[in-house]
Amino acid sequence: MAAVEQFAIAVVGGATAGAEAARIFSESEILTVVFDQNPRPYGKIEDGLPRWHVGLRRKEYETIDGKLLREHVHFVPCTKLGRDLELEELTREWGFHAVVLANGAWRDRPVGVEGADAFVGKGFVYQNPFIYWFNHYTEAEYKGEQFEIQDGTIVLGGGLASIDVAKVVQLELTLRALRGRGIEEDLVEMEVRGIPATLKNHGLSWDDLGLRGTTIYYRRQIENMPLVNEPEQATEEVRTKIAKARRRVLEKAMSKYLFRLEPLHLTAGLLVEGDRLVGLRFVRTRVVDGKAVPTDQTVEVRTPMVISSIGSVPERLPGIAMRGELYDFVDWDLGRLEAYPNLFSAGNVVTGQGNIVASRKHARHVASEVVEGYVRLADQVKRLPPIPLEQRDEILNRVRELQTRVGYDGDYRGWIQKVTPPDLV
Ligand SMILES: Cc1cc2nc3c(=O)[nH]c(=O)nc-3n(C[C@H](O)[C@H](O)[C@H](O)COP(=O)(O)OP(=O)(O)OC[C@H]3O[C@@H](n4cnc5c(N)ncnc54)[C@H](O)[C@@H]3O)c2cc1C
Repeated sequence: MAAVEQFAIAVVGGATAGAEAARIFSESEILTVVFDQNPRPYGKIEDGLPRWHVGLRRKEYETIDGKLLREHVHFVPCTKLGRDLELEELTREWGFHAVVLANGAWRDRPVGVEGADAFVGKGFVYQNPFIYWFNHYTEAEYKGEQFEIQDGTIVLGGGLASIDVAKVVQLELTLRALRGRGIEEDLVEMEVRGIPATLKNHGLSWDDLGLRGTTIYYRRQIENMPLVNEPEQATEEVRTKIAKARRRVLEKAMSKYLFRLEPLHLTAGLLVEGDRLVGLRFVRTRVVDGKAVPTDQTVEVRTPMVISSIGSVPERLPGIAMRGELYDFVDWDLGRLEAYPNLFSAGNVVTGQGNIVASRKHARHVASEVVEGYVRLADQVKRLPPIPLEQRDEILNRVRELQTRVGYDGDYRGWIQKVTPPDLV
């Protein structure tokens, strides 16, 4: 029989970081309630990481499932903080000892060009909804936003995600061109083989398709692209190695997927016709001390579609103070906010790094600190009193109420089966 928990913690977001935090809390027999806005708790593994990562996605789904199935963990799907729940009630009213925000970074960083957002859906697209569409549109039941792939697309970015976006466009363009010739290809297989090898199998080359292709515009030099992490305090020798490695990563991707890159271009203005964005004006830059410095040279480029892939930031939540696009953390190590002494944050919402391992590692660090230093520690000064039995039961009643509201009966495996589209890759 399960031990009656002495402590209770809420986790907002059940994906890589949230599930890892839940695992650590459950190991300490802490009553852990995991809220997720979506029916499935896989976050960016399902909706960010492009769907050609078939094996990785499956492995990460199983990892998350295993953690949310643990004793002491209660999953509450389809329940969004800021819509169905308020931070105020979680941190102060329910009786939780701590609340851990593991809600990731779901808002695209604004492109920063005056007036650009008015053209969203009219020639201008942000990365997060675009990849969401790409990962889901093949499902028969998909009813979300639709995007039409355009030849000559411009991708704004320079990081790994922007390469993925350019790959999506190139792969889809190639599939479409082949389909026009009566040839059916598989996108996932083409991603593995690359576009030139796939075309060669059909006796074709890229030039035969007559496509303009996709171009990434980046504000600094290739060697500055954050495709390989540079450790802090790196020596000159290490920096040179990393610069070479970055170039290699880019060149490999370009040779396999045939997109182009224009470095040293900073977006400066919009070309508009009627109500549509039809191009961009760039200022050429030079790099001084690692920073892009505008020159007086400008270039205008026409395009049917611009996809901005310049990073993701946390969604604004009622009650959370912001500093620019980020939460105004007073402690960036544990993601603490001044207004809520019992609140911590873990994963992408703090690290800002688009990386599964970094999210998991950070969540492990935060959750361990919460357990050791805050809830369970022998240091009686810091240790919080255990939760009274009636309050624990009250939390469980509220959890059941929220679960019932969305049709979840507490059977995690049965629920996942029910909410997984049969044709989900
Ligand atoms: C295009 C792209 C390619 C990538 N490629 C790679 C790669 O190759 N390798 C790699 O390691 N990483 C990659 N990543 C990054 C990786 O997927 C993420 O960094 C990681 O999965 C983030 O995990 P997380 O748990 O911190 O956040 P998320 O996965 O974002 O989880 C946050 C969870 O919180 C939930 N949530 C959000 N807001 C609320 C709310 N208000 N209330 C309730 N629930 C909420 C969400 O539904 C979600 O389940 C890629 C990302 C993208 C976008």
